[in-house]
Amino acid sequence: MLNIVLFGPPGAGKGTQSAKIIEKYHLIHLSTGDLLRAEKKSGTELGLKAKEYMDRGALVPDSVLIDMVDKKIQENKEAKGFVFDGFPRTVAQAEALDEMLTKRNLNISGMIALEVEEAELIKRLLERGKTSNRADDRNEELIKNRIQVYHDETSPVADFYKKQGKYTLLKGVGGIEDIFASLCEKIDILSS
Ligand code: AMP
Repeated sequence: MLNIVLFGPPGAGKGTQSAKIIEKYHLIHLSTGDLLRAEKKSGTELGLKAKEYMDRGALVPDSVLIDMVDKKIQENKEAKGFVFDGFPRTVAQAEALDEMLTKRNLNISGMIALEVEEAELIKRLLERGKTSNRADDRNEELIKNRIQVYHDETSPVADFYKKQGKYTLLKGVGGIEDIFASLCEKIDILSS
């Protein structure tokens, strides 16, 4: 199985690149943001709980995420692998993901981190907010808060994978196809 953690701050291009990766490598896209938004839209108990956090750009509690991801992995037992997008976002989530995979005799093949500077992230997210129907992309303060949360709570996840020798950094600026080509080079190394 090819299990990739696509990492980076909000607006780094994880969603865009994940869509291209899953098509080329026939993997499952596991975006926790998408899963939470679907729960929110259906008005489930989990969705209502998540909304409180998402509407202010805070992280939804680890326990909620871990159960949700475990279920999704379980539902896709025959998959060739996963692209984890927006997960893990805390070290506790990364540890839980390792456990979930280990108990199924699987592991993370590698983390690829997309690097984009803050001004560009804000510009991209505000632009996306015009069409994305996401309230958290329309408010600059909320966007800045999400980026801050990334620095404070999520960036240590990179060290977690560095320690395992599974971390690769990639420039996330330039044309979508050029970035995708660089990503594919890295993925081909991981899958060889
Ligand atoms: P995203 O679509 O990845 O930008 O996620 C949107 C929002 O969903 C985030 O701002 C968080 O409130 C929540 N969220 C998504 N993934 C996670 C996660 N792994 N841990 C905690 N909260 C998450």
